[in-house]
Amino acid sequence: MTEKERQEAMAVATPPYASDALAEGTVDAVVIGGGAAGLNGALILARSRRSVVVIDSGSPRNAPAEAVHGFIVLDGTPPSDVLRRGREQVRQYGGRVVFGEVVSAESAAPSADGDLRFTVTLADGRSITARRILVATGLTDVLPQVPGLAEHWGHSVVHCPYCHGWEVRDEPIGILATGPVSIGHAFLFRQLTEDLTYFTHGTGLDEDSRARFAARGIRVVDTPVTEVVDDEGGALAGVRLADGQVVARRVVAVAAQLQARTQGLEGLGLPVQDLPNLGRGFASGMAGTTEVPGVWVAGNATDLVAQVGASAAAGALAGADINRMLAIADTDAALQGIAGGSPQGATR
Ligand SMILES: Cc1cc2nc3c(=O)[nH]c(=O)nc-3n(C[C@H](O)[C@H](O)[C@H](O)COP(=O)(O)OP(=O)(O)OC[C@H]3O[C@@H](n4cnc5c(N)ncnc54)[C@H](O)[C@@H]3O)c2cc1C
Repeated sequence: MTEKERQEAMAVATPPYASDALAEGTVDAVVIGGGAAGLNGALILARSRRSVVVIDSGSPRNAPAEAVHGFIVLDGTPPSDVLRRGREQVRQYGGRVVFGEVVSAESAAPSADGDLRFTVTLADGRSITARRILVATGLTDVLPQVPGLAEHWGHSVVHCPYCHGWEVRDEPIGILATGPVSIGHAFLFRQLTEDLTYFTHGTGLDEDSRARFAARGIRVVDTPVTEVVDDEGGALAGVRLADGQVVARRVVAVAAQLQARTQGLEGLGLPVQDLPNLGRGFASGMAGTTEVPGVWVAGNATDLVAQVGASAAAGALAGADINRMLAIADTDAALQGIAGGSPQGATR
């Protein structure tokens, strides 16, 4: 299976939703990505009377999951419901949400008073000019290349004990190791089941960890896994090893590599950073600021381990910081005697 085929197997068809028209002229902020981070950033901006357009390709990371868990009040709500309500709330304050994919984003010539400008182009060729950008594109989970694994992603193949751990409690669970990060992962899943097998799958496992696993009753299998095996009904039934043996399991937990979704954003020149054993994300500072003036980043695109609540909070912080910086820019412009920013955040 190629990487593309694997991603397609993991993806859940997310039907397009009603899209707003792209705004004319220059808007205060374009938010790239309409998941929890992007929508919460847009909500703060719209409520601050900033003109804001969210451009979202509609494939949030948790789309395969039946419900969001571990987020107070919203626990048990389908991800699509959370985002639908989020879009409604952004629109309620005048924000726009456009269904589309950003294929390029880059800085443009500044305004006459020196204020920053960016051009954002969609896959259908339309473009929009913004004073500030919030990148909230999320990340891609990259699974190990084991046949049959991707097809169960988000259901019987899970990554996060806090997202689906309760739902798979007491099941026979296998940890498919991807590296040292899987050792800690195993102890978290051991909290959820007594029937846990750790498949080293070619990764190292030191003697101390083996002793700790033994103390907690975690079995270790060093023979590599060759495929995930289904029962007749298509449910995950186990993993086949290189020696042909099948180890019965109902759930496989795997620490996927986490890769920020950077496609189409290269023109912004945002620095990315590698996080050992975890993945790759955009580098950011306080409130999602980046080394690129005028560009903020929030959610999984920069914080690879953020869940929905943390992503939404990061989006809100970034939105507030963008509003703060726009207020300074508006005041600088007013001081210069050049047309200042209107309280509606209108174009200038
Ligand atoms: C299977 C699974 C289950 C999960 N369950 C839970 C759970 O129960 N509880 C929990 O708290 N967390 C859960 N998570 C984690 C959760 O998915 C993330 O924390 C959350 O989605 C991060 O929000 P985000 O806004 O950063 O990114 P996302 O939600 O991934 O949103 C990013 C958006 O940006 C869009 N986008 C990307 N690139 C572009 C582009 N170039 N142009 C336009 N739009 C673009 C995407 O289409 C997407 O809509 C789960 C994750 C997975 C994989």
